[in-house]
Amino acid sequence: MHVCKNDLVAVMAGNKSGKTGKIVKVLRDSNRVVIKGVNLVYKHTKPSQKNPQGGRIQKEAPISAANVMLVCQNRNCKKYDKGVRVKKKILENGYKQRVCVYCEVEIISAE
Ligand SMILES: [Zn+2]
Repeated sequence: MHVCKNDLVAVMAGNKSGKTGKIVKVLRDSNRVVIKGVNLVYKHTKPSQKNPQGGRIQKEAPISAANVMLVCQNRNCKKYDKGVRVKKKILENGYKQRVCVYCEVEIISAE
């Protein structure tokens, strides 16, 4: 998986193409991710203790991780706020950093 929880990603393919959002859940088994505010679907629920009325609730449905790219948050980058390819950079202390291929600035997670 090239992305992880709390990453800011852009959807690059499919009918949600162009949307960006924060990853709230990674489904490693199915190679899918849930992105906050993206791919909202109505879920019909039966009445329960938590939701005594039942009915429709809006919820994000997972999308394929292959269709998302990390977003560069460096304002000076020509791809600022867009999905970018990233590369791994190994620091002197051995720590691996993901950096944008355009500006070489570290990809940071969403707040
Ligand atoms: Zn960049």
